[in-house]
Amino acid sequence: MHELTLAESVLEIVGAAARRAGASRVTGVRLAIGALAHVESDTLQYCCEVASRDTIAADARFSIERPPGRAWCAACAAEVGLERWGMPCPQCQGFDLSITDGDQMRVLDIDIA
Ligand SMILES: [Zn+2]
Repeated sequence: MHELTLAESVLEIVGAAARRAGASRVTGVRLAIGALAHVESDTLQYCCEVASRDTIAADARFSIERPPGRAWCAACAAEVGLERWGMPCPQCQGFDLSITDGDQMRVLDIDIA
């Protein structure tokens, strides 16, 4: 399961950051998963909770933001916002789109104690 692999790398990043900061535990983790990434927020959140068991982040609350994606529309010759995969250009309804942003995953910040 793809989300579990992602959750494990999130926990690695969080664990390393917490150790660098000298934290005894992590209480919150905020993630940004681009709207065009093939990731289910609910599944990822669940996997993070599972993967964090017996780690420094066992009590952490995971919240996930979905920043909108962006794509270059060849017909409009402009960059447009895309809420999710498979949507046409919001300006011309065309599908001649190249994704430019929105499939990234980032740990935005962590709360430590
Ligand atoms: Zn367009």
